[in-house]
Amino acid sequence: MTDASLFESLDLTAEDNAGGDLPVRSPIDGATIAQVRQANAADVPAMVARAQAAFAAWREVPAPRRGELVRLLAEELRAAKPALAALVTREAGKITAEGLGEVQEMIDICDFAVGLSRQLHGLTIASERPGHRMAETWHPMGPCAVITAFNFPVAVWSWNAALALVCGDPVIWKPSEKTPLTALATMRIAQRALRRFGADAPEGLLQLAVGGAGLGQALAASPAVPIVSATGSTRMGRALAPVVAARFGRAILELGGNNAMIVAPSADLDLAVRAIVFSAVGTAGQRCTTLRRLIVHRSVREPLLQRLRAVYAGLPLGDPRAPGTLVGPLIDADAVARMQAALARAQADGGVVHGGQAVTQGVPAGGAYVRPALVEMPAQTAVVREETFAPLLYVMAYDTLAEAIALHNDVPQGLASCIFTLDLREAETFLAAAGSDCGIANVNIGPSGAEIGGAFGGEKETGGGRESGSDAWKGYMRRQTSTVNYSTRLPLAQGVRFDV
Ligand code: NAD
Repeated sequence: MTDASLFESLDLTAEDNAGGDLPVRSPIDGATIAQVRQANAADVPAMVARAQAAFAAWREVPAPRRGELVRLLAEELRAAKPALAALVTREAGKITAEGLGEVQEMIDICDFAVGLSRQLHGLTIASERPGHRMAETWHPMGPCAVITAFNFPVAVWSWNAALALVCGDPVIWKPSEKTPLTALATMRIAQRALRRFGADAPEGLLQLAVGGAGLGQALAASPAVPIVSATGSTRMGRALAPVVAARFGRAILELGGNNAMIVAPSADLDLAVRAIVFSAVGTAGQRCTTLRRLIVHRSVREPLLQRLRAVYAGLPLGDPRAPGTLVGPLIDADAVARMQAALARAQADGGVVHGGQAVTQGVPAGGAYVRPALVEMPAQTAVVREETFAPLLYVMAYDTLAEAIALHNDVPQGLASCIFTLDLREAETFLAAAGSDCGIANVNIGPSGAEIGGAFGGEKETGGGRESGSDAWKGYMRRQTSTVNYSTRLPLAQGVRFDV
């Protein structure tokens, strides 16, 4: 399919694709596939005013009816899945299966949110006072700004938007400046759902603000945007969080990870190898949950490394649209340069590097292709403790589980983690209070590829936010505690006497 027919199938018009000042480059071949228009910080007040007006109407629409809009969105996403996935591949470089998986994740969170729209429940709490009833109610909060990263160019919006919509909140989306086209296409799909939904959905309910960091900062600074959900690097979170905090806004931060796997002596190595390869090289190492550190018991280190080296040597790498490709391009040449710099530092620290070279033969010219790297490290040095957003897996050895857990937790990030073991004591120790310090901790599953039913997010420099399933919806609502006195007396709490 040509770019032009793909764009057309997603209702992207010539006005969307051309004439703007932001070039969109495909990581597959470096081609400029569109020139989109950007908003800037001066446009933010009007957008926020539209979102506030939409909020006044949308919060009055019953939540199950709000869920109907999300149900229609899921229908439209199902119909558009192959086309949107193909655009994700073209713009972000994901292999076809992962592009389809990303859109499926959007559908899954919509389905989840539809059910949720009838389940936005609070607690009732026993009152200490006779003739009193205490309860909590969850109310819509207000406009939610959603700032997203390039590596999940559409799914992260849907994690936020599907929940925000049923919770009664309008959404202003600032996508990554590297992936604005998939955002435009997603908005077109949402518009199909809005048209079918009818007049209950106010104008300004879903808005898109294409632009860079300055636009994100303007949204973060706006006191009329009570929720800012931001996904990206820890560097971004460090710049944004104080701005939101200074006006007492609510930030949901989903930042960088440095995810590890402990491979214990009893591990099923067949399973471990498959999990390691998927989570270390899938999406060309550009997932927040990508496996970056392998902490292997000394007794199984050599056999595991031998198998990994063999698999890595034969990984099908190239055009992500070609059947059979497992490793597509990195997002751009800068990402390749950062990977090379990290490999050089690792080598200087005594690391033994396998793979990691830039690839120019047998791949589309102009793309940013690299061989995934395995690096045997003598210790967890400074470079290992940083997130390098590339397919770069550091391998370290351990002797005792306590040592492995200490190494595991001794990084600034706290997103996803796992242990491969058949020993129940080891598995439970890893999941216990003194075990993994991450938001996600798995046993006999790699760290990446989460389902939407669970809350997603991590601790420490990952930012502490939670999105997606479980009770993450509470982040998009305000809690109101109410006490109702249906008696004829006015008893005070804590037995206080105040007779007048
Ligand atoms: P990035 O930080 O460069 O950009 C992310 C978004 O933040 C973009 O929309 C960008 O325009 C915006 N931004 C950047 N600086 C900003 C600022 N000072 N103020 C306001 N907005 C700003 O990240 P990226 O390169 O697009 O994505 C890769 C990073 O995202 C990795 O660190 C990865 O781990 C992280 N990530 C985290 C999660 C998660 O759920 N924890 C998910 C996906 C990606």
